Amino acid sequence: MKFVYGPVPSRRLGRSLGINVIPFKTCNYSCVYCQLGKTTDMINERRIFFPKEEILGEVVEAIGKVEADHITFAGEGEPTLCKDLGWLIDRIKVCTDVPVAVLTNGSLLYRKDVREDLANADVVIPSLDAADEQTFRRINRPHRDLRMEEIIEGLEVFGREFGGKFYIEIMLVKGYNDDERSLLAIKSALERIKPDGVYLLTPTRPTALKVEPADEFGIVRAHAILGEVVDVVNPEVGEFSAECFSSAEEAVKALLRRHPMREDQLKDFLKKFGEDLSILERVEGIKRVEYMGRVYYIYR
Ligand code: SF4
Repeated sequence: MKFVYGPVPSRRLGRSLGINVIPFKTCNYSCVYCQLGKTTDMINERRIFFPKEEILGEVVEAIGKVEADHITFAGEGEPTLCKDLGWLIDRIKVCTDVPVAVLTNGSLLYRKDVREDLANADVVIPSLDAADEQTFRRINRPHRDLRMEEIIEGLEVFGREFGGKFYIEIMLVKGYNDDERSLLAIKSALERIKPDGVYLLTPTRPTALKVEPADEFGIVRAHAILGEVVDVVNPEVGEFSAECFSSAEEAVKALLRRHPMREDQLKDFLKKFGEDLSILERVEGIKRVEYMGRVYYIYR
């Protein structure tokens, strides 16, 4: 198939049947962490790239053959640059009950036509790696016509209008957006945008530039500043539930890999297993990090 791939295991969407409606590396960003490499076709106007009927035909064929938790517009460039996106979402919704998700860089949500195109999706996950102009230019390397404030306003309006699930995704990159100033700017933007949740990710695959994922200090800083809404999604770890684990050691590793915990939270959690913090001496890889007068634990 040319436009449909998977289902692939997705960090946030379970078994995700992917749809790519954009030619390879056609985007209005060229993110330093992009796993597809440097953007080769930097455009900022919406276009028709492929025959929409052909894309829809492939989707209909695929949903008749495979089971998926979501049908997801993602792939090899920025999906909202496709002028047929709204038409495709509406037609897919008529054909199946499988929820439709859109992963987007969120840069065009200030446009009414883009917001209208996404209105019938079930889940929309825009990224927001920066909320100040300087960090935005450095990490996302956007098209020159894009402005950070306009993008935040677009996300704010979309959040108010959209009836489905709306999450923000932040890719935390060491030395780019894991410092206090950048994170405080993101926090203020999130207070305006009011998403249903925030995913915090770190790059796990080869990236366009040689960048490093945020380390334990960056992740803890992000948690401390952005608050409880943040969920570190780690591809190696499934859903966490205390009942799933046979020992406290196993549970602590799984939990702290996914989500740094404050010392008081960890103490409470360990009580469920009849344990205390002394257990951490027996678990290799647990790191203790102090930030803003509080102690956090993380497993890396
Ligand atoms: S927005 Fe997505 S596709 Fe575009 S450069 Fe960034 S990571 Fe790559």
